[in-house]
Amino acid sequence: MSGQINIRRDTTDQFYRYKMPRLQGKVEGKGNGIKTVLPNIIDVSRALSRPPAYATKFFGSELGAQVNIDDKNEKYIVNGMHEVPKLQDLLFTFIDKYVLCGNCKNPETDLIITREHSIIRRCMACGQCTDVDMRHRLSTYIIKNPPPKEKKGGQHASATTNGNPAQDGGSSEANSGDDKDFELLAGDAANLRLDDDDDWDIQLDMSEEAVAERQRVLSGGIKLSAGGEDEEADPYDLLGDFIKANRDASDREIFEKAQQLDLDKKHRALVVVIMCLFDEPASVVKNVAKRDKILMAFGDSDKHQRAIIGGFERVIEANMDKLLPKAPAIFKALFDEEVVEEDAFLEWGKKPSKKYVDKEAAKQIHRAAQPFITWLEEADEEDSDEDSA
Ligand SMILES: [Zn+2]
Repeated sequence: MSGQINIRRDTTDQFYRYKMPRLQGKVEGKGNGIKTVLPNIIDVSRALSRPPAYATKFFGSELGAQVNIDDKNEKYIVNGMHEVPKLQDLLFTFIDKYVLCGNCKNPETDLIITREHSIIRRCMACGQCTDVDMRHRLSTYIIKNPPPKEKKGGQHASATTNGNPAQDGGSSEANSGDDKDFELLAGDAANLRLDDDDDWDIQLDMSEEAVAERQRVLSGGIKLSAGGEDEEADPYDLLGDFIKANRDASDREIFEKAQQLDLDKKHRALVVVIMCLFDEPASVVKNVAKRDKILMAFGDSDKHQRAIIGGFERVIEANMDKLLPKAPAIFKALFDEEVVEEDAFLEWGKKPSKKYVDKEAAKQIHRAAQPFITWLEEADEEDSDEDSA
């Protein structure tokens, strides 16, 4: 997708899962009335699961400029003339301070206002709660204009609604009438977190290993370096770059590259390989038969099998329109070529999991793949009846 950039400014990882639209700004008016309109701050904020007022307010306080926040008419304006690169830079600062987990840098966090009126970021990936700088003017604003209530996240309820009118002109709708809009805005990530019945609770094994694994999985099953300023090139990235730069590379060449990078036994490398090799929607099914060897080269453990299914889930997710209807055919091809075994599919088929894709996509893919899973189950029953394959 063009115009999408990584939410984290310190990663150039092309497979980094969390993206947002590049910020736009449009200067209007002149003289004293000159102002910078933020035409896509709603979309950007949605990607961050924050109300658009927050980033707008943040720009205002960093630039010493008045802002105009009008949620009802979806107008977000910073007075004065401001260049987009500067605003984008400030947006990244906002993300560092108010979105990313202070511990692991994952962006799927909730802002929670505590009883003591401080704000914390609660992280879905590592489970940590980290503080927000309460001296920043935006923090004061957030206390007065708390994040929207979420439908099922009971623990938020007490903190979120106080009916306090907003301070800036026109923003009094923020907490009162427009719950629907806010639900939409908060929707994606909030649902992912709070409506979740699958593995969130069970998953909270806080051992160092489990946390690291969760971060990888959440970042798209591929990579996430928690600390990161100038990290070394990531081997998963390098493998992806190699495949993309060498479209004709044979299975053997790709596997040798993986060996060189010490990824030849890593199940996650499969996700990279699959995303790169199967990026042509029209030929995904056909290519399974052609590429079966590389898919089987990395190993055949449960994790490898699950990673292959996950890789194809991501391929489908990236092109839902075209590939969702083909989900049964894709999985059937993997089964026919003996790349993924029956048991792995049946296990996967039990319930949607957001291990590799977002929850909504996982559900849709499951639904779409149901005919194949049913077919497998029936074939399984016949097998046991006849006791022959
Ligand atoms: Zn975290």
